[in-house]
Amino acid sequence: MAHDLIIKNGNVIDGSGLPGFHGDVAVSGGRITDVGKVSGNARQVLNADGLVVAPGIIDNHTHYDAQVTWDPLCTYSCYHGITTVVMGNCSLAMAPAHREDREMLAGVLSHVEAIPLEAIQAGVNWSWETIPEYLDALDQRLGINVAALVGHSAVRRYVMGEDSQERHATDNEVAAMKIIVREGLEAGAIGISFERNLRHFDWNGRLAPTNLASEEEIFAVAAVADEVGRGVIQFGGDRSISTKLAKASRRPVFYGNITQQAVAPEKWRKQLMEAENMMRQGHRAYQFVMPRPGDLRYTLKTAQHFDAMATWKTVMLLPLEQRKELFRDPATRAKLHFEAVETPNNPSRAGDFTRRWDLQFVFQPALQKNQHLKGKSVAEIAREQNKDVLDAFLDLALEENLETEFERREVNSDEVAMKALLTSPYTVIGQSDGGAHVVFRTDYSYSTYLLSHWVREKEIMSLEDAIRKLTFVPASLFGFSDRGLVRPGMAADLMVFDPTTISPLEPGEAQDLPGGAKRRKQLAQGIEWTVVNGQVLMERGQHTGAYPGKVARSTSPAQPLP
Ligand SMILES: [Zn+2]
Repeated sequence: MAHDLIIKNGNVIDGSGLPGFHGDVAVSGGRITDVGKVSGNARQVLNADGLVVAPGIIDNHTHYDAQVTWDPLCTYSCYHGITTVVMGNCSLAMAPAHREDREMLAGVLSHVEAIPLEAIQAGVNWSWETIPEYLDALDQRLGINVAALVGHSAVRRYVMGEDSQERHATDNEVAAMKIIVREGLEAGAIGISFERNLRHFDWNGRLAPTNLASEEEIFAVAAVADEVGRGVIQFGGDRSISTKLAKASRRPVFYGNITQQAVAPEKWRKQLMEAENMMRQGHRAYQFVMPRPGDLRYTLKTAQHFDAMATWKTVMLLPLEQRKELFRDPATRAKLHFEAVETPNNPSRAGDFTRRWDLQFVFQPALQKNQHLKGKSVAEIAREQNKDVLDAFLDLALEENLETEFERREVNSDEVAMKALLTSPYTVIGQSDGGAHVVFRTDYSYSTYLLSHWVREKEIMSLEDAIRKLTFVPASLFGFSDRGLVRPGMAADLMVFDPTTISPLEPGEAQDLPGGAKRRKQLAQGIEWTVVNGQVLMERGQHTGAYPGKVARSTSPAQPLP
């Protein structure tokens, strides 16, 4: 039998969590047709000797809604083994959209998700009005698969116009919203997204429409998923409404994320327990964990996180020469020491300096002679130099003209916490916000980071478990019944990689958004091929030119098999 594609001699890790095994994977017509010892020939044969063959990764929380229309690969997610993304999160979407609401929808997506407005304005060619029309437009040309949630803010704006950002909805308006949501779900949208976040505005300072909804409205609109019998609910920002929804709804609810924070060391335990309790009671209420550290790099030229301490604030606001002088001055140093070393921590303010000198690392020394300090913590350097921590910190920075790059690792970096969170059956790995916060963040690299840092280097979980959490788990929870496993009959979304080298690369800057705006760019190494619906999309970090992606639509369980 002739196949379209055979991937030969790989270590097949099929997404189920079962141990990997040596075998081939055959693909025809976009689907996996055989796994094991495959006979026959194929139009294309890939030799996966020494490589892992796994399902493609499903990123369950992104904001590619606008970007995907000019960039059907959804860069830079496609460089990290990701073959399907879920967008339409946090109530924000590009459909439905009346012509006169386009500017508002682009503006609120841009402002809330930190996507340059000029990129959306220059890049999006609005050819749709309704959700079905938007999904069909996307289906014309996709590199990876995209799945869309119906965004409540977009629906509310569509029904209520300007009033959507000013008042509660009438019963008739709620009924009209429900019709649009149903139309979206029936066209293949995979759920509905809402949000409560009183800091989420459009460019005119008005709240995103979903924030004006009463609890009754949210429950009525969310109930459409129950009525249709499929679709998930994503709810950003309000734990109490979310857990109530999870208890009332028959649908899975995704809300919030659990982070380990040095500033509040016990918080993650409480949140994990809450997630466990909800699920032990039988509610499908899921919280995300992001494997990447919330690391922050700084030099003493620009750091802001010392600003909550009075002397520090004064010194850090001075011109550089004066600042250096005061860093050298013993009397000032004593005050800085009192504030940053002797004063007990006030854990209530996230973002403030925690006084955890063991979590301040030298990321990049400026001078050749100091390169041996790279990767060491300030506490460690102080011990080696037999100095006080503050002296070690300031002496190094002064010697290097304040150009030493430090890195603060206070979020999602503690090994004990991260092992508990990432391996818990009650958490979901993800929430990268791919396509959003493009100037600073690269959390779309969470997959390659998990596989390199937590699996290979720290060995907190098996490769099989990590792959299951990146593929089969999100496929199951978000309703992609034909993705997330390497099994005959499944869509042929595959990632072929070298487990000994896979990792994200150092981020850099790119100027590749429409209109010329810049963004942060992070690629990966160690992925040989990414296959989407049976076609090779990426080969060693290069796009092959294929556009095999599809809108991943939810289908009714009652539909007959093809
Ligand atoms: Zn989001």
